[in-house]
Amino acid sequence: MSQISLTFPDGNIRQFDAGVTPAQVAASIAPSLAKAAISAQVDGQHWDLQWPIHGDARLSINTMKDDGPALELIRHDLAHIMARAVQEIWPDVKVTIGPVRDYGWFYDFDRAEPFTPDDLGQIEARMKQIINARDPVRTEIWSRADALAYYEERGEPYKIELVNKIPEDQDLRMYWHGPWQDLCRGPHFQHTGQVPADGFKLTHVAGAYWLGDSSRPMLQRIYGVAFKNRDDLKAHMTMLEEAAKRDHRKLGREMGLFHMQEEAPGQVFWHPNGWTIYTTLQDYMRRQQRRDGYVEVNTPQVVNRKLWEASGHWENYRENMFIVEVDEEGAREKVVNALKPMNCPCHVQIFNVGLKSYRDLPIRMAEFGSCARYEPSGALHGIMRVRGFTQDDAHIFCRLDQVEAESKKFIDFLAKVYADLGFDKWRIKLSTRPEKRVGSDEIWDKMEAALANAVTAAGYTYELFPGEGAFYAPKLEFVLTDAIGRDWQCGTLQLDPNLPERLDASYIGEDGAKHRPFMLHRACLGSFERFIGILIENHAGKLPFWLTPRQVVVASIVSDADPFVEEVVTALTLAGVRAEADMRNEKINYKVREHSVGKVPVILAIGMKEVEERTVSVRRLGETRTETMTLDAIVAELSAAALPPDLR
Ligand SMILES: [Zn+2]
Ligand SMILES: [Zn+2]
Repeated sequence: MSQISLTFPDGNIRQFDAGVTPAQVAASIAPSLAKAAISAQVDGQHWDLQWPIHGDARLSINTMKDDGPALELIRHDLAHIMARAVQEIWPDVKVTIGPVRDYGWFYDFDRAEPFTPDDLGQIEARMKQIINARDPVRTEIWSRADALAYYEERGEPYKIELVNKIPEDQDLRMYWHGPWQDLCRGPHFQHTGQVPADGFKLTHVAGAYWLGDSSRPMLQRIYGVAFKNRDDLKAHMTMLEEAAKRDHRKLGREMGLFHMQEEAPGQVFWHPNGWTIYTTLQDYMRRQQRRDGYVEVNTPQVVNRKLWEASGHWENYRENMFIVEVDEEGAREKVVNALKPMNCPCHVQIFNVGLKSYRDLPIRMAEFGSCARYEPSGALHGIMRVRGFTQDDAHIFCRLDQVEAESKKFIDFLAKVYADLGFDKWRIKLSTRPEKRVGSDEIWDKMEAALANAVTAAGYTYELFPGEGAFYAPKLEFVLTDAIGRDWQCGTLQLDPNLPERLDASYIGEDGAKHRPFMLHRACLGSFERFIGILIENHAGKLPFWLTPRQVVVASIVSDADPFVEEVVTALTLAGVRAEADMRNEKINYKVREHSVGKVPVILAIGMKEVEERTVSVRRLGETRTETMTLDAIVAELSAAALPPDLR
């Protein structure tokens, strides 16, 4: 039998018979490792302990201490265990597919009656029995004919369709969790007992079309979440409860910020309060960009397909584009346009007007660019996942030797913005060259070093994501952690030598010859819509005072106080505070309650005592006590707080 060399994480190299499995390798190292092993990495690929290794490779053994693989296996094995439990309880239910997702998994079932909450409890109990039985997990490669015969016999039409979809030259892998079998790519645990029995929970059921196709049957999707232990699960459930309380759709309604309706799916009707947040944030971003030497432009919404063909979007992105056909006068055929899904090609058009010299670079071209992208209706989520949105977009045209300094400058920019907006926890991901790529290794070395050095020079560290870059260049991504521990990727910095090439952008170099500029696509917030959603949820509606749409309500206790109420509102308004009067003939407690639901941070109550003393009774959101302040003192305090952080 031929021999292969396996290289271990510590650099050790050992010889094994070709076809050795990671389980055998682990056993040859130590029985304790064989017992603790859950899977392996073979040349970076997640590998089942039962799969043979046929050639030289780098190998490491995963245990439950390796979070990434451990959680993937826990969630994936639970998908199988749940499907088995469902078919054990209701043998007539048809199974389909069940992938891993954030925090858990789902599985789609075809069953006439809907699953009830009681059913979920019953399924969960059966799953625990299966886990406690420590049933072995087995895997085999099957022929297409055997697989089809097996599923025909069992009456599993969805599985037959899946088998027929797999390309002819690809192996069909089967997995058994105890007696229950599923078509699956793997990897999996070695026995069901490796799944922590107290780390998971079935959360809810929702309808989902087979293969996401609305002309196909509606299935029932059962969702579950899973972690390594009970404490992690509990922390997650608490986070979900907290997230539900902060849901921007609920708060958006209560605070009167926006609405959406079915005539314009995925697009926002901004109400005055919401638009105040939006424009205040936009004004702030505009000041930051001016300070950092950006020029601002604006480009068309409806753009002929010719430009999208030239940019490559027509070929690669068309299913996400809204197509607009127009009967141009005198034209024999309809003219085909698309709503812009991105601003980049239009910015290159501006760059391309007039001759550019190396002395003009870098050019930092910003646009609050309104874009439209088709998203399936099932993917839409409030103002966070939409079809119409505005990016805080910019493109920096520069030479390769300027990329590092420009990238550092952007990281500094972004750090200041995030701090001003109340986010102090964020991290940077660096995605480097993928297998399939264009450009020489020499250029890739330079591009990756420029981004990596920029991060270091800005005083940060990065997590490396090898192979995750675009086919033409590496990128940085900036991930915020919000107040309840959720991650949001908002900022990006994508280096790009490709689009300038496609759209023939050039500048005259010091040598008098034409050169291609590099582009940096960069956004800090991502889109205003999504970022405002994140802000609302992060702050649970209690936005930083300067961003709050309704900053102060001045409420009368008796109608004789009305003239002083108006005087206070005027004084605050002149001092730059968004203040409004509430002189309705209602009890003060009623007014306070209503404005608290609307998340108004400061309510000033005024009765006859306040009128006589020229004071106000101040009630701050979330506090029950009130304090008395003079008119001058409250105006001074609130006008200072209303200033955006960059103007203080
Ligand atoms: Zn599977
Ligand atoms: Zn771009």
